[in-house]
Amino acid sequence: MTDRLYCPQALLGDGWRDDVTLELTRDGFIDAVLPGRHAGAECLPGPVIPGMVNVHSHIHQRLIAGLTGMSAGRDDSFWSWRERMYEAVGMLSGEDFEILAARAFMELLEGGYTSTGEFHYPHGLGDQEPRKTAGQVLDAAARAGTALTLLPVWYRYGGFGRQPLSDRQKPFGMSLDEIAALVNGLQGQVDARLQRVGIAPHSLRAVDGRDLPDLLANIGEGPVHIHISEQPAEVRACLEYHDCRPIEWLLRHVEPDERWCLIHATHADEREVQALAGRSVAVGICPTTEADLGDGLFPVREFLDGGGRVAIGSDSNLVTSAAEEVRLLEWGQRLRLNQRNVLAETGEHIATSLWRHMARTGARALQQPAGELREGCRADLVVLDPSHPVLAGLPAAEQLDSFVFAHGAGMIDQVRVGGRQVVRQGRHPSRTDLDERVAELRGRLVGS
Ligand SMILES: [Zn+2]
Repeated sequence: MTDRLYCPQALLGDGWRDDVTLELTRDGFIDAVLPGRHAGAECLPGPVIPGMVNVHSHIHQRLIAGLTGMSAGRDDSFWSWRERMYEAVGMLSGEDFEILAARAFMELLEGGYTSTGEFHYPHGLGDQEPRKTAGQVLDAAARAGTALTLLPVWYRYGGFGRQPLSDRQKPFGMSLDEIAALVNGLQGQVDARLQRVGIAPHSLRAVDGRDLPDLLANIGEGPVHIHISEQPAEVRACLEYHDCRPIEWLLRHVEPDERWCLIHATHADEREVQALAGRSVAVGICPTTEADLGDGLFPVREFLDGGGRVAIGSDSNLVTSAAEEVRLLEWGQRLRLNQRNVLAETGEHIATSLWRHMARTGARALQQPAGELREGCRADLVVLDPSHPVLAGLPAAEQLDSFVFAHGAGMIDQVRVGGRQVVRQGRHPSRTDLDERVAELRGRLVGS
């Protein structure tokens, strides 16, 4: 591995810079950002941007991508999708799961994500112990070469008011002692250079919020992620049971700080948006999944105006491209507000502004030393292909705008994690080895 990378253009913390060399430590961190081209530096071919950070993934859901398109009638919704997903989880063996996960992590790397936060809840696949299944997520990430923050999910109840788990939810269920033991056991198992462990209380419907202080007292200082307000039915059930909305309840009882990332804060009302924006929490938006599930749109512009911070997630992994996720985030706000370039300030390039904000917020939410090209961060980066016909001859900021908004195949030349090249000419070299096995799994699911 080379220890110097020359970037003809690089997206740094203060904007685009021409002619810089990244000097790397032996373990793949940026030691210095030097002006000019330094001796022995490997020349990267195109504009260099920080690898995108994916704060929310359920890696096994890649299995059903595109397989939930049969209408269940006028009231088809998230809840009928969830039944299909449970069915798919039920047919996975541990071995299937690890292969599916490795291949999906490779696809995410090809899509420009260098770190992923895995909100992991299929703990008991077949008769496997939860520790084994969690270890398979770590192994699959290592096989693909991605950085990973593993967020084991605490799933305890089937709905507000401590309802029992349904038969399909039972394999995910754990007591507080069991989830704390899992999280604490995994702490010693991770590769400290690339991997972290946090915790994900699933939602206020699957966990009784009053148990959260006990949970947090029994684990370390890792990130805390929660699904918070994805569906109107969930907000209604919370109002019925707690007499307040989910975000409102969390803010009142838990005091979330920078460890916290609130996933799908979609149905936040105006007061909740402003209260969240004034805190150091991140909000994780998953635009393509939220669109696919008909969830709704979070008021991102208003949240940013209040000082809020937003990250993106690939969630169901229906789409594994960071560019598509960033584009839909912006387009959703355009459709909502009848404006253009909603999430940039005057004079800024939209994709530059979004990419920098999302990568940095995401890294903080996953406690990964990444998301920026600066001294002290791991050298996680994406290099665009300046010979692509849509990008050729353009300045770097226009190349990034085109990559995000006129996205097409072949625009990424390479992806590196900790300096190591994991995607070459847009492809992960090990992915095709797993294609057949995953195709067979998908065929089995639809009965062909
Ligand atoms: Zn989720």
